[in-house]
Amino acid sequence: MIITSRSDNFLGFTTGAWRVWSLSDGYIEMPADLLRDPRNKPVPQVAQAGALRLSVNCFALAGPGVDGILIDSGGGNWASTTGRLEQTLAEAGIDPASIITLALTHAHQDHVYGLLARRDWVLFPNLQAIVIAEEAVESFAAETGLARFQPLLKPVRNGEQVAERLTAVALPGHAPGHTGYAFDTKEDRFLFFGDVVHVPALQFGDPALSWGYDDDQTIARATRQEVFRDAAEAGTWVAGAHLGWPGVGRVMREGGAYRYEPA
Ligand SMILES: [Zn+2]
Repeated sequence: MIITSRSDNFLGFTTGAWRVWSLSDGYIEMPADLLRDPRNKPVPQVAQAGALRLSVNCFALAGPGVDGILIDSGGGNWASTTGRLEQTLAEAGIDPASIITLALTHAHQDHVYGLLARRDWVLFPNLQAIVIAEEAVESFAAETGLARFQPLLKPVRNGEQVAERLTAVALPGHAPGHTGYAFDTKEDRFLFFGDVVHVPALQFGDPALSWGYDDDQTIARATRQEVFRDAAEAGTWVAGAHLGWPGVGRVMREGGAYRYEPA
């Protein structure tokens, strides 16, 4: 991985013949008591802080077989602090008209409402497909504001190839059909892992800490442990929707837990 361009809002890098961008859509403020210990109780020292600021990141791919793929779209107008993606794409030199496939990790609002720009304009005029896990289709359909995108849904299953070198990987626990995307260039391995981590400053050091909005905290916890272990062993770059800026980094084993090293 070679970093080629950056601003405060994006990081562009190359890996072999491919280009990857980490793109900021802004951030969201969430109640700090959403961070939970293994008994599903708020973590007192953290809850005192009142609010936690979570980055909201999306990722774009270009190169042989993966041109025009965006992973997650951010929150758009869903929150006043999201919807920066349009401006970030411009800074990174990416034309929204070049995006033809959106691959979603799940259908929560902070990942899907970026389909719409200001005044509910469609941000990606040439979008042809929205890749989404079969089990997440129902949640997407429940977002009535996004009804016009329903015909584009392209359900995938665990292990299915989405594009050349890009494979859907079930990462259960956070939301129905929560899915990551593994991207394997010869030089690097990436896992775009959506919402496996919400509070990077604490969950790498203690992967048992869970998020109040995880559908099944026990399964989410097991998924997080497994992802960290595998990524640390294989030297995989992890890229997360809520990882601290720049949203991509490595997982290093540290004692009985892990440490996150941003790119
Ligand atoms: Zn999220």
